[in-house]
Amino acid sequence: MIDNINNENTETKLSDKLFYKKKSAYELLNRAEIEEAYSYAKGYTQFLDEAKTERESVIAAIKMAEAAGFVPYTLGMPLEQGGRYYYNNRGRGLYVFTTGRRPVEEGIRILAAHIDSPRIDLKQVPVYEDSGMCFFKTHYYGGIRKYQWMALPLALHGVVVKADGTSVNIVVGENEGEPVFCINDLLPHLAQDQNTKPLGTAIAGETLNLLVGACPYGIEGEERIKLNLLKILNEKYGIAEADFMSAELCAVPAAKARDVGFDRALIGAYGHDDRVCAYPALTAVLKNANSEYPLMCVLADKEETGSNGNTGMKCRIFSDLIDEISRSLGGNPNIVRANSKCLSADVAAAYDPNFSDVYEKRNSAILSCGVAMSKYTGSRGKSGTSDASAEYVAYIRGIFEGEGVVFQTAELGKVDLGGGGTVAMYIANENIEIVDVGVPVLSMHAPFEVVSKVDLYAAYRAFAAFCRR
Ligand code: MN
Ligand code: MN
Repeated sequence: MIDNINNENTETKLSDKLFYKKKSAYELLNRAEIEEAYSYAKGYTQFLDEAKTERESVIAAIKMAEAAGFVPYTLGMPLEQGGRYYYNNRGRGLYVFTTGRRPVEEGIRILAAHIDSPRIDLKQVPVYEDSGMCFFKTHYYGGIRKYQWMALPLALHGVVVKADGTSVNIVVGENEGEPVFCINDLLPHLAQDQNTKPLGTAIAGETLNLLVGACPYGIEGEERIKLNLLKILNEKYGIAEADFMSAELCAVPAAKARDVGFDRALIGAYGHDDRVCAYPALTAVLKNANSEYPLMCVLADKEETGSNGNTGMKCRIFSDLIDEISRSLGGNPNIVRANSKCLSADVAAAYDPNFSDVYEKRNSAILSCGVAMSKYTGSRGKSGTSDASAEYVAYIRGIFEGEGVVFQTAELGKVDLGGGGTVAMYIANENIEIVDVGVPVLSMHAPFEVVSKVDLYAAYRAFAAFCRR
């Protein structure tokens, strides 16, 4: 062994061969590829601005799918080999799929992302007046850090469905000249007591009330600001207070997606989690619709609240669709599931040097080092994760390495410090191979999340490679 000491040349070559070294996309890609990544990001920011809620995401995705020749599918409809379809699940979930040309029993290539994001929902009886102001009572949706949503311009998005079944779409606060809404914050001068409380409990959920008006209707009577507000809503949308009972309205940041940094390398926006994976997953399927394998892009709702409900990933519609596709193409659905392969396309936490103590750097996703593959998620002793097999991770790794996809591995943070999950385990429970692959995000779940353009592009390249193999 002593022979090798001082043989620097050999040692350098040996370390190149044996060490795993994470590299930035900027080291690995050529100039044309980086330009391609930046131009791909433009389509994505457009999608972000169009699609701030799951409903808007479904509409935007259908528009893209139809432009690529996909047609609506209804349960029971016979499929044609080589066909392109989408199934709209109640306007909040979407399944875009192709039949491919190979026997369906060889399995479907599935990309599963979610299109709901944390936000502030309205309660069913939201309107009240107090001290010269009118507010909406809210109930937050998903895992938010409450302080981030105060003193911030918010837009209102959603739908009000009246008892007769007619519905009104509402979007206010996105266009120049439209009013916005906000949640009041406490002035520092009087925050002495609040400042001593832990961040997680300093702001009560019931104080996240949305400021929506201050001008009274007439001068006589009670609740005249509320009356004026309801009059405006009635004139504009034909709704009355009781109609909020059957509504889905939510407050989201009013800002549009923006480039971040002098070099424009990053995108800052609301709702990267998980549109930053939904968009590349969808575009990968649309661009590779001629792939010989049957493909499916799942855009699920309700991931941020646990994937329950008939638009969430746990809904049997996912499995029903596989049954329908299999039968229509002459395959046994159980064999189709067993041979199907999936990527759970959801975001990873990007390592942030400003909060270095919560990450274990060697196993964290580093910004601009490509799309992140997480063999497992969950918390504590890998609780709440499907933990992909070494064989399947090797299969995916082989595709990425073979196609020059810039990728890295990632865990959410230090062991025992917290945790999180994705839709992966629900799909794994259907007897389908799956691993998490997604874009690293800074300030995850904040009203303004940040991603790197080269990581977004790496996700697109990863998903496209998966569709082709
Ligand atoms: Mn997510
Ligand atoms: Mn999330």
